Amino acid sequence: MDQKIGVYICSGCGIGDSIDVESLSSVAKDEFKIAKLETHAALCSDDGVGLIRKDLAAGDVNCVAIAACSGRVKTDVFNFDPMTVITERINIREHVAWCQPVGEEDTRMMAEDYIRMGITRIEKTHLPNPYSESIDKSILVVGGGSSGLQAALDAADAGYSVTLVEKEDQLGGYMAKWKSTVPTSPPYQQLDEITIQQTIDKVVNHEKITVLTGTTITKVAGAPGMFDVTFSKGDPKRVGSIVLAAGWKPYDPEKLQHLSYGTYPDVITNVQFEEMAKAGKITCPSDGSEPSVVAFIQCAGSRDADHLPYCSAICCRVSLKQAVYVKEQNEENKVFIFYKDIRTPEQSEEFYKKVQKDGTVFVKTDTSKVTIGEGSERKLCIEAMDQLLGEPVMVEADLVVLATGMQPATLDDPILNLEYRQGPAVPELKYGFPDSHYVCFPYETRRTGIYAAGCVRQPMGASRASQDGTGAALKAIQCVELTSQGKAVHPRSGDLSYPELFLQRCTQCKRCTEECPFGMYNEDVKGTPLPHPTRCRRCSICMGSCPERIISFANYSVDMIGSMIKSINVPDEYDEKPRIVALICENDAFPAVDMAGLHRLSYAPWVRFIPVRCLGSLNLIWIADSLSKGIDGILLLGCRYGDDYQCHFMQGSELANTRLSKVAETLDRLMLESDRVRLEQLAITDFGRIPKIIDEFTERLAELGPNPYKGF
Ligand code: SF4
Ligand code: SF4
Repeated sequence: MDQKIGVYICSGCGIGDSIDVESLSSVAKDEFKIAKLETHAALCSDDGVGLIRKDLAAGDVNCVAIAACSGRVKTDVFNFDPMTVITERINIREHVAWCQPVGEEDTRMMAEDYIRMGITRIEKTHLPNPYSESIDKSILVVGGGSSGLQAALDAADAGYSVTLVEKEDQLGGYMAKWKSTVPTSPPYQQLDEITIQQTIDKVVNHEKITVLTGTTITKVAGAPGMFDVTFSKGDPKRVGSIVLAAGWKPYDPEKLQHLSYGTYPDVITNVQFEEMAKAGKITCPSDGSEPSVVAFIQCAGSRDADHLPYCSAICCRVSLKQAVYVKEQNEENKVFIFYKDIRTPEQSEEFYKKVQKDGTVFVKTDTSKVTIGEGSERKLCIEAMDQLLGEPVMVEADLVVLATGMQPATLDDPILNLEYRQGPAVPELKYGFPDSHYVCFPYETRRTGIYAAGCVRQPMGASRASQDGTGAALKAIQCVELTSQGKAVHPRSGDLSYPELFLQRCTQCKRCTEECPFGMYNEDVKGTPLPHPTRCRRCSICMGSCPERIISFANYSVDMIGSMIKSINVPDEYDEKPRIVALICENDAFPAVDMAGLHRLSYAPWVRFIPVRCLGSLNLIWIADSLSKGIDGILLLGCRYGDDYQCHFMQGSELANTRLSKVAETLDRLMLESDRVRLEQLAITDFGRIPKIIDEFTERLAELGPNPYKGF
């Protein structure tokens, strides 16, 4: 592409009051080869954007630099064809005019540098060449329970061909084995009938759904739009995306020795109790007698650091429901529920009150212990410290039901048997659930095109699991549609670029294949990466990892960021105007800086923000480029580490930190203080910390003095 760059500078929203727009125009005209320059009082108005469209239509420009508001706003207005036009939004509103003193020299210099960096970015951008293999748009749903059935139905109703695979011989999952469910409609007093059979009938009779029961998956190879799936029986299939709705399994009660499961036959689990109730009669397994006192023990292995540290969300409501069964069998029966906290969200609270009113006794404790009821009328004895009475209690019972929690079906079973370099399983979060980012992108796993739904994703009840199926089906559809257009899925949805590798210079070091969080690269026997472009989320972590710097994107590269850094005007050491380059994650830190501007928070004028796709794309050469240019300090703002917060690209800022540990040694060797480079973890809501972070870093740089390489 022969670039014809048009620069359009807006003076609206207070920009013109704060910055001398003429000086910005001079920088663009005098320092760069541009085809067109315009200023306008409101570029986002019909008249303003019309100006740009007119120049594009006339063929006067094909690259558009818009110096105005943040690129996160007015996206519908400044929306030009990405296949023919390179667009760069230069943020001189939130990042300059709204956070710096009006009319000052340093404010102007800051804006001028943003103009320099923005035009440089365009100069280093190429039009995308989207990956356009033939894409299959059919969808595979794995699991025939509540969420899988709903996902299959919704995707098929939307017109997509669906294959539904279920390992059991029947569809319906656990729901088909239940007697009833907790109330879901006002006044939330009556148990609901199980209606899963109606959904099953719709699925098996749907012309767009093929059902494979008694079937497992032996291999999934390929990538979104072209997954090749082989089954334990029948022909292989090609599908575009996958909904993983494999469900859950109960926590292993054999591990609950203190509750005597496996020691006394009349200690059973909530799943066993439900199956018994569905079969018609509740009895004691030891002798077949009908129990007249039943005790439920909540959180049996849940919210317990030695077993499942989390709450399974549904077990309290299940025990309330099962208490009703006991009373239904004989209204004289007695029910005790030993609980840590009764968790009945939403309208389930009404049901909880009803069960209380109907005579179930609740004992608040976290020290339940089950023993044999020697010498007593009943077979079992539950001892506990009642936290409300403040004294020990002992209850005799005929039957004890343990409310055990949920674990994902993927635990110890990869289910999909992926042919990925990183292994056959979908990667998990810390409790074993294969979600990838519960904060922003529920359903998405770390394997692009594979979406988790229902209890395999997190513990939940049946109605939520079915809604989850709908959500995951929509994601699966979105994936095949975007992929067929060569576009990325979340979080860089719509990006048409993908990693391009200059493999002639690859040293087979395997860093890219190891560090890609999404398993984009398989590798051959020698270690040469084998890209599967539709698996890529365009995070650029591989670009940052490659020591040979041979991975780049049409619209993002090591050279691009390096050149932007080099375009900054660095005053000499006598001017006492230090310069800080801040590489900021575009997902959290960039919007946080925007929000700081929105709140008119002010900070030192020495900083120049450069958004990066992920701090994991940090290439150490950028640090070297900055320091050799005379930049005094480099600030890296990335996401908080760990599962509790979550980087959009899993571990980007942690990777950047690991790379930085190597830089520190090099800096010390060069007699440059390692304090000149600082990494801060920042959540999007932490925008109020930005002035403090910058001001403290500025103070530290003042202590260190100017970068000795300034002026060289
Ligand atoms: S850009 Fe990210 S997702 Fe794509 S190959 Fe590189 S590391 Fe993997
Ligand atoms: S990181 Fe770079 S050099 Fe190493 S295997 Fe990947 S492409 Fe090759």
